[in-house]
Amino acid sequence: MKTLRLILGDQLNSQHSWYHSNDENITYCMFEMRQETDYVTHHIQKVAGFFAAMRNFAKELKANQHRIIYWKLNDESNTQSLTENISTLIDKDNFEKFEYQAPDEYRLDHQLKEFSKKLNIENKVFPTEHFYTERNELSTFFKGKKQFLMESFYRNMRKKHQLLMIDQQPEGGKWNYDASNRKKWKGETLIPTAKNFDNDVSQIVAEIEDAGVKTVGKINAKYFEYPISRKQALEQLTYFCDHLLVHFGDYQDAMHTNQIFLFHSKISFAMNSKMISPKEIVDETLQTYRKRTNEIDISQVEGFIRQIIGWREYMRGMYWMLMPNYKKENFLNNKNKLPDFFWTGKTKMNCLKNVINNSLDNGYAHHIQRLMITGNFALLTQIDPAEIDAWYLGIYVDAIEWVQLPNTRGMSQFADGGKIATKPYVSSGSYISKMSNYCDSCSYKKTKKYGDDACPFNSLYWNFLEEKESQLSSNFRMRMMYSLLNKMPIEERTKIKEKANHIIKNLDAY
Ligand code: FAD
Ligand code: SF4
Repeated sequence: MKTLRLILGDQLNSQHSWYHSNDENITYCMFEMRQETDYVTHHIQKVAGFFAAMRNFAKELKANQHRIIYWKLNDESNTQSLTENISTLIDKDNFEKFEYQAPDEYRLDHQLKEFSKKLNIENKVFPTEHFYTERNELSTFFKGKKQFLMESFYRNMRKKHQLLMIDQQPEGGKWNYDASNRKKWKGETLIPTAKNFDNDVSQIVAEIEDAGVKTVGKINAKYFEYPISRKQALEQLTYFCDHLLVHFGDYQDAMHTNQIFLFHSKISFAMNSKMISPKEIVDETLQTYRKRTNEIDISQVEGFIRQIIGWREYMRGMYWMLMPNYKKENFLNNKNKLPDFFWTGKTKMNCLKNVINNSLDNGYAHHIQRLMITGNFALLTQIDPAEIDAWYLGIYVDAIEWVQLPNTRGMSQFADGGKIATKPYVSSGSYISKMSNYCDSCSYKKTKKYGDDACPFNSLYWNFLEEKESQLSSNFRMRMMYSLLNKMPIEERTKIKEKANHIIKNLDAY
């Protein structure tokens, strides 16, 4: 039967069973579309990276004798809409069957489901064969539970897949080495140069610009640094295992003005586009550990594996368990506007300046920078979660809604009232100072709560607790902070409130 198979931009899994054999009745199609470039303002590196990886994938399929139709952004036949493009091809070439892999984003899943219902030819959906878990596995796992703890899911994953397990017990005696993953980096451990690929994507960038797509951020188009093929994705993984894994856990939460990637793997773009699978990453990490057990501590390996089989799979499961309503949640009723400096990096707050400029320059920030610098500030200043979602979804090369939304709205903004995080991730300047060197060269004083040169995070933190008391004071994990707040003299609370209100009203002046 003459069949059309769709491959979405984040379905670049060359190991998928679809490609195990060649069938001349099957034609694959891929489209670069305004539908995908315009639903938020994306970082230029994200758009160029996806198009470059898609083009390489199409080339690879062709080289392996598969039939492929690839429409570039500026192709005359391109209607710029996914379903219209598919309809055009079905009508033109008289396809008798349409097949696609289940999209990971609700938006696209819904669009293709509705489209397929109306199709007058046979259609079929396939799994992407990428994740460890099924899309609805968490709904089953947490059925009847009041709390959806990542840790219980993670332990179950370790047991189910027999990862770092000995006789049904966690290897090393502990499930979680999180407590030893919190070192500040002070230059004592040499950080190997980050792995870059020097891909020339200048032609793609020119096409994006010619089409008038609105983007943010910078790109060095002749030397695009992220992996854009499976071969490069595998090289990135090997580089991580050879050079970075040994200190990954130790410095997982560290931040530094001169270091963008520290010991992080930089693998999220390759993984989220599915050029490489989580299982391949976990297997190579464990093999490296087994070969170098004398040198690599279990805490480094467990810390990394937890991110992949724990957090990543958990976030996807939570997304599918809670969508579509999740996208509207705003438990803390936050309504303020995102300051302009999130888009320009122009602020005197050194921590935010560094993280935002890194994000604009590289389409990257590591987890703690996203959570405890930009996310923390956005929550303390009570920004509308919809504006925050749009920023995170646009600015990072790895941002796809299934992973961005639960991280941003749930973990970082507590907008779901605690479905993902058991308490809001907020802090004053002291946490930032503990984990980074940002405060050393900041215009503000990290210990001061009020006065012109006081660190804004300090007054904002106490003010946030006070303003959200009705929603948060009953949270067991917040009790100690509320007891400290309640012991604070009233005059001090008044000064803090005045300072915080001034900041919130004049965000772009700080
Ligand atoms: P490493 O630190 O080397 O970690 C290895 C891998 O673990 C990552 O590549 C990623 O696949 C996975 N991982 C780690 N933490 C998480 C997490 N919390 N959720 C899911 N996977 C995780 N990650 C995305 O892939 N896309 C996003 O859009 C995204 N948005 C985020 C928004 C916020 C507010 C926060 C707090 C985190 C977000 N994350 C997101 C998670 C994390 O920040 C990135 O996965 C990580 O920084 C990518 O860099 P890396 O590959 O060097 O990661
Ligand atoms: Fe950030 Fe405050 Fe430290 Fe400045 S003093 S870097 S604003 S935490």
